[in-house]
Amino acid sequence: GQVVVRLDGVRKEYGETVALDGVSLEIRAGEAVAVMGPSGCGKSTMLNMVAGLDRPTEGSVSVNGEDLGRLDETGLALFRRHRIGMIFQFFNLLDDLPALDNVALAAQLTGVRASQARKRALELLDELGIAGRRDMYPSALSGGERQRVAVARALMNRPALLLADEPTGALDSVAGEQVMDLLLDLNQIGQTLLIVTHDPQLAARCASRLVEFADGRVVGERSLERAA
Ligand code: ADP
Ligand code: ADP
Repeated sequence: GQVVVRLDGVRKEYGETVALDGVSLEIRAGEAVAVMGPSGCGKSTMLNMVAGLDRPTEGSVSVNGEDLGRLDETGLALFRRHRIGMIFQFFNLLDDLPALDNVALAAQLTGVRASQARKRALELLDELGIAGRRDMYPSALSGGERQRVAVARALMNRPALLLADEPTGALDSVAGEQVMDLLLDLNQIGQTLLIVTHDPQLAARCASRLVEFADGRVVGERSLERAA
């Protein structure tokens, strides 16, 4: 597949702290890459660079051939809305909107008509097995259901890349396994994934490649055989 993500010599400093110390990494279309490593080794910083939420001190990041360093703040905001989907440990849903509106909003923010956005949102909720929860607020949903809503939201704009930061970190083991199966299914229909996690089971189940970080650097890399 073509290169979806390219980090080239990425260094990131926060004051005296060196969070990333020369990271180079390529992710190709269709891969599911899990980044693992101890707390504080720079995983979230790397994810934020790829998401266009933060900029490197040195080096470059490109996604789908677009050099993020060439985008101004408005350009980065558009990039985030149109090109990537993100899911988080704690879901980051809007508490005062029902599930369907949480999902539909992602497309409305890109200028899609409300009726059209709601139609696609409902299709996605249906594919993820939670159409019946469409009118419920996040507080009334289980953790696993909330993460499914978050996945639906992340897929709304057909992102080139789905980014996940500890997507099972707040879930019990049953819900966690359901979310793992969902991520694996998405990858098997072609969705490129970049997952940051502490969870070896998540990496083993979902990832086609494991990248190991320590002290802001890539210290190991290997392909994984997934049980189909
Ligand atoms: P991980 O996700 O692997 O736990 P992080 O990327 O969160 O690691 O952090 C890497 C290093 O950068 C840590 O030392 C952390 O304290 C520091 N760091 C991360 N974000 C910031 C920030 N916004 N300001 C200052 N230091 C930060
Ligand atoms: P189409 O453009 O043919 O309507 P879909 O809506 O089925 O295609 O999916 C568009 C893209 O959204 C897929 O290529 C895939 O990258 C991503 N996607 C991943 N999982 C799903 C899913 N469960 N439902 C819809 N889209 C998904």
